[in-house]
Amino acid sequence: MIFLKSPSELDALERANRLVHTVLRTVRAVAAPGVSTLELDELAEETIRQHGGAAAFKGYRGFPATLCTSINDVIVHGIPSRSTRLAEGDILSVDCGVLLDGFYGDAATTFGIGKVAAGAKRLMETARQCLDDGVAAVAPGGRLGDVGAAVQARAEGKGFGVVREFVGHGIGRSLHEDPQVPNYGLPGHGQVMRPGLVIAIEPMITAGSWRARIDADGWTARTEDGKLAAHFEYSVAVTADGRRVLGVDGEG
Ligand code: MG
Ligand code: MG
Repeated sequence: MIFLKSPSELDALERANRLVHTVLRTVRAVAAPGVSTLELDELAEETIRQHGGAAAFKGYRGFPATLCTSINDVIVHGIPSRSTRLAEGDILSVDCGVLLDGFYGDAATTFGIGKVAAGAKRLMETARQCLDDGVAAVAPGGRLGDVGAAVQARAEGKGFGVVREFVGHGIGRSLHEDPQVPNYGLPGHGQVMRPGLVIAIEPMITAGSWRARIDADGWTARTEDGKLAAHFEYSVAVTADGRRVLGVDGEG
């Protein structure tokens, strides 16, 4: 069931997502060679608490942490740990969800640690463009296939892969609501986007095969060929005249 949000609910979602982006900026500022992903996680949890929110991922289906920290060939759902330390040249995806005043925020970004290889940079830039193209395809009366097709065209046009096993989602009073938002599809197909719909668009883009395998921990999703992956995510509201990226000033 799809829940369309009222203006006051959109304001609450704006605040939740604003906190998510505050966390992402805070984490990024300290991410450097030698820092453990658990240190990033502890900083994220503290930041969320200071702002009166709760970590949405912690305990979600048993996930043990506040952040997903996914390094290099890890696509999504990497688990922060004391023993995993960032190294020069890594690419790190940080995904964060918060619950604030009854509403969820969810966003992710990928960035390099120190100096990264040209190919890694190209992958991250393309994945970021995929997000922007997906967001730009959000319009009242449009269809979700427009979003997926825009992401897919950008990624595959640059020779990169689009992960199929994980998709974006509706978001609101639940972290994951209907509808599903695939990063592939056909223009003009799928659910119609109506004002008040809020979706998390989250392209997961790979340098090689788009197929994933899951580690023995039951969470960590890696590319099956060990090549790099990048992940970006915004929560986006459909408005009467277009779209609004939640929690990010001056975008969308
Ligand atoms: Mg997320
Ligand atoms: Mg999400």
